[in-house]
Amino acid sequence: MHTSETKTRKPSAVLNGAQQPMIIAGPCSAETPEQVMETAQNLARDSRVEYFRAGIWKPRTSPDSFEGVGVPGLGWLQDVKKETGLKITTEVGSEKHVEEALKAGIDMLWIGARTVSNPFIIQEIADALRGVDIPVLVKNPLSPDIDLWEGAIKRLVKSGLKDVGAIHRGFFWWGKSHLRNQPFWHIPIELRERMPGLRIICDPSHIAGKRSFIPLLAQRALENHFAGLMVEVHPSPDNAWSDAAQQLTPDSFHDMLNDLLGTENENTSQELLDELRSEIDVMDEMLLWALAARMELSSKIAKVKREKQMEPLQSQRWDQVMLRVKDMAMKSGLKPQFVEKLYTSIHKESLKLQKTLISDGSNNIKKVHNFVGERQ
Ligand code: PEP
Ligand code: MN
Repeated sequence: MHTSETKTRKPSAVLNGAQQPMIIAGPCSAETPEQVMETAQNLARDSRVEYFRAGIWKPRTSPDSFEGVGVPGLGWLQDVKKETGLKITTEVGSEKHVEEALKAGIDMLWIGARTVSNPFIIQEIADALRGVDIPVLVKNPLSPDIDLWEGAIKRLVKSGLKDVGAIHRGFFWWGKSHLRNQPFWHIPIELRERMPGLRIICDPSHIAGKRSFIPLLAQRALENHFAGLMVEVHPSPDNAWSDAAQQLTPDSFHDMLNDLLGTENENTSQELLDELRSEIDVMDEMLLWALAARMELSSKIAKVKREKQMEPLQSQRWDQVMLRVKDMAMKSGLKPQFVEKLYTSIHKESLKLQKTLISDGSNNIKKVHNFVGERQ
C-alpha cells in the first residue's frame, strides 16, 4: 500500500458519501513517555485522527505478560492532549480504573472484550459512570454472543450515559485461522439493526492479529458503513511490548487512511480475494468440524441402536431431520433443494457408518481431532 502523486485520483468507493468516520489510533499499550509522545505527534499530522488511544491497564491472557504501566500512563496521555490537541482514550476494566481515568480528564473510555463478558463488572463500571458525560465504547465479548454485547451497552445507557457506542474487534474461534479473531460481520450488523443509530467502530487490528490484513478489514468495515476505525499504531511495531504483530507504523497508517478516505483506493482485487478467502477457509473449517462432530454423535447412536436391536434407518426421525433443516435453509436464505441434496449425502454416509459399527459389534467411536491448530 502506498500513495502516489502521479496516479489518477478518483473518489473513494468506500465512503459512499457517508459522514467522515471517527478515527481512533495509537499504540496497543503505553510503554514509555517517549513512545507515547512520538506516536501521538506522528498521528496528529493527520487531521482526520480525532482520538489518541493507549492501553494503560492491559488485560493479558498470561500473568507473565506486560500488564500495563498503570496510573502514571494517564499523565503521559494528558501530555499528549496538551501537546497535540488530540483527544485521549483508554480502556477501563473496573470502577477504580474509571475513577482514575476521569480524574485525569479522559475524553472517552472503552471497555475491553474480556471485561464485557462479566455483567457484574459492567454494572460496577456503569455505576461509576453515573452522571458523567463522555462517550463510552463497548467492545464485543470474545464469544460471538450478541445478547451479552447488547446487554452491556444497555447497562451503560441505563446509567444515564448519552453517548454509548460499540467496537467490533472480532470473535474468538478455536480452529485454525489466518486471522486472530473472526469478523462474523453479520453480528455487529445485527446489533446495529437491534439498536438503530448505535455508533459501531471497527478495530481491524485485533481482528487481523497481523498487520498485512488490517487495510482490507478496515475497508470491509467502511463498506459495511461502520462509523469509524480504531487502529493500533506504534513507532517500532516489532519492538512493541504487546500485540507487536498487529501494529502499524505511523507511515503505513497514514497511507492506509489516504487509501481508504482520500481520493484513491489502492487495495487490489488480489488482496481482497486473499482476505475473503481466509474468511472462507474458517467457514470451511467450521463446516468440517461440525460434520466430524456429527459423525462422532452418529457412532454413539449406533451403539445404542445395536443394544436396542434397532435398524440403522429410522424413517420417522429422518423425515423430522429433513423438515427441520429445510425450514432452517429457508430462514437463512439457502435453497431447500440444495440443503436436501447435502443432507441426503450426509445421512447416507452416517447410515453407512452405523451399519458397519452395528454389524461389526464394534465400540469404536469416531473421534473428532486435529481441529485446534496454531494461529498464524
Ligand atoms: C486493546 O484494544 O488493546 C485490547 C486489549 O483489545 P481487546 O479488548 O479487543 O482484546
Ligand atoms: Mn492490543
